[in-house]
Amino acid sequence: MSISENIYLIRKRIPSGVKLVAVSKFHGETAVREAYDAGQRVFGESRMQEIDQKRNLLPADIEWHFIGHLQTNKVKAIVPYIHTIHSVDSRKLLLEIEKQASDIRKQVCCLLEIHIAEEDSKYGFSSDSCLQLLNSEQCKELKFAYIGGVMGMATNTEDKNVIREEFRRLKQFFDEIKTEYYPQDDRFSEISMGMSDDYTIAVEEGSTLIRVGSSIFGHREY
Ligand SMILES: *Cc1c(COP(=O)(O)O)cnc(C)c1O
Repeated sequence: MSISENIYLIRKRIPSGVKLVAVSKFHGETAVREAYDAGQRVFGESRMQEIDQKRNLLPADIEWHFIGHLQTNKVKAIVPYIHTIHSVDSRKLLLEIEKQASDIRKQVCCLLEIHIAEEDSKYGFSSDSCLQLLNSEQCKELKFAYIGGVMGMATNTEDKNVIREEFRRLKQFFDEIKTEYYPQDDRFSEISMGMSDDYTIAVEEGSTLIRVGSSIFGHREY
């Protein structure tokens, strides 16, 4: 099936309130353009160099999201054009985004990556370390990097119950944070969860942003 048919089918399967991030990593400008022509405007990439190469060849109204592990020394380069960073996984990274965003007076939506999977991962906050961050003065003083929600990745398993349980816990954690820290702040609204293999479960469990790559673009081009 074509890229545009894939997008059409995914859109049909998700409620209109759920935003589809088309993950275009490992696919070239032509593939992105085909998705764009099918009406897709939100694209996700996990490497700075790759967005940099594609971005200038593509329409300016694309909303670029960063979904991969981000090193602090790359923040300055991506802040000018990035809309949302899904993978904020340390205080140091958040403060660097704030610094660079403040320099150019731009709002950047930051999602806190929460470690929800059974697997060991180097990245992501535990719920305790996340709450510690939210309690800190630094976090309350953010002006340009704002906390727009949370992101999580489920365990890579065939067991749908495990996946569902992990997504459910992320949604509960989001609700806790919302009640405790952002009851009046409409910007804290996003739960980024669900990829090609598990986005339907994620949507059932309350996802607002799904990040879908291979189900749209197929296997990697490079
Ligand atoms: C690659 C990637 C995706 C998309 O994965 P697919 O299984 O191809 O849909 C989603 N989220 C993150 C963080 C990724 O790195």
